[in-house]
Amino acid sequence: MNNDLMQHLLQLAEEVEQQVAPAFARTESIAQQNEWKITRSFQAHQVSDYHFAGSTGYGYNDRGREVLDLIYADIMGAEAAIVRPHFVSGTHTISCALFGILRPNDELLYITGRPYDTLHKVIGEKNDGIGSLQDWGIDYNHIDLLPNDELDWDSIVTAITDKTKVIGIQRSRGYDWRSSFTVEQIKQMIYRVKQIRTDLIVFVDNCYGEFTELLEPTAVGADIMAGSLIKNPGGGLAETGGYIAGKQWAVDAAAQRLTAPGIGGEVGAMLGTMRLMYQGLFMAPHIVSQAIKGSILAAGVLQRLGFVTKPEWNAQRTDLIQAVQFDTAEQLIAFVQGVQKAAAVDSYVLPVPAEMPGYESEVIMAAGTFIQGGSLELSCDAPIREPYIAYLQGGLTYAHAKYGILQALQLLVEKQLVKLD
Ligand SMILES: *Cc1c(COP(=O)(O)O)cnc(C)c1O
Repeated sequence: MNNDLMQHLLQLAEEVEQQVAPAFARTESIAQQNEWKITRSFQAHQVSDYHFAGSTGYGYNDRGREVLDLIYADIMGAEAAIVRPHFVSGTHTISCALFGILRPNDELLYITGRPYDTLHKVIGEKNDGIGSLQDWGIDYNHIDLLPNDELDWDSIVTAITDKTKVIGIQRSRGYDWRSSFTVEQIKQMIYRVKQIRTDLIVFVDNCYGEFTELLEPTAVGADIMAGSLIKNPGGGLAETGGYIAGKQWAVDAAAQRLTAPGIGGEVGAMLGTMRLMYQGLFMAPHIVSQAIKGSILAAGVLQRLGFVTKPEWNAQRTDLIQAVQFDTAEQLIAFVQGVQKAAAVDSYVLPVPAEMPGYESEVIMAAGTFIQGGSLELSCDAPIREPYIAYLQGGLTYAHAKYGILQALQLLVEKQLVKLD
């Protein structure tokens, strides 16, 4: 390791830490309030170690599972929730939610632009033969955001027809160079949508958003929302799974899709997953705050070096994602490789751009994680397409996120892709 260079970078990071201290303080305050909310919910439900035992076979009357659903509902400000290791990913969770509430001839309308890449196959096309929404005769449309990242209400109002049943909102930027939507903004969207037609059902893709703010979208009127347990609410401990929260009928409908019609959420052995789902939820606000502080530091440092970041360090946060725009593919690839070098797991692996199932261009991913693909852990994804944007997220501890940023910068400087003054 180049010690002079590392010293120089450390000093830069320390200067930025001073500058971003107010943003750190806001993040810590949110974590504290969410931590207390979760602890009070555990207490109200008298969580005890027998809830962690898990179940086998059909898993009937698994009290740990039932109470975890109630706690999620509480925390999310929802009537009901279903939290399961049987959701294999965020995409599967969202798919269950959408298939639960949509029927043939209904239309799904996304109003926050094209949704996250892996959902394109879920939405699918007519006669694609894979049983996508459109293959089942469910229509789909989306309205692009305006150039200033605001919603295009004129087009939305025109696009809503009698067929439109579900309005889709994606909170996080995902892999898009746009703003993420705060819970306050989502509240305004829901208000406007319900003014157009009170019976429109609002679905929110809440992936990456949980516990970055004090409220979640279901607390401000979303009918149903979904997220992944290998992101924020799993606290870095949950080994797999997802959750759906919302109106009782909507959560029930999604549960019928997860298992089978008539079975719903009453069945499903939790095996040995319970303690880590409870403990992960308990840890989640803190771990999320560590990751967000890492994102704030990254934005501060990279802005100083002249790169454009979304969000900027001082902006209000509503998700984990820190997008950074590089000038060249070489810079992008080196940055991602530097993040990988900082990992505790698989640091010796060199990530290279490759095709990934569900993604439409080649992607390079740094993911030296304990949980495979766990993106509350320090990770970085970048589709290799112009403009060259890296999406950095996670960090189980702030110190590790900082280490990752320093390693990535070091590689950029060593490869002479970035100059320090
Ligand atoms: C991660 C993510 C998904 C999909 O989750 P996977 O676990 O990758 O399938 C969907 N939407 C958004 C906004 C996400 O961030």
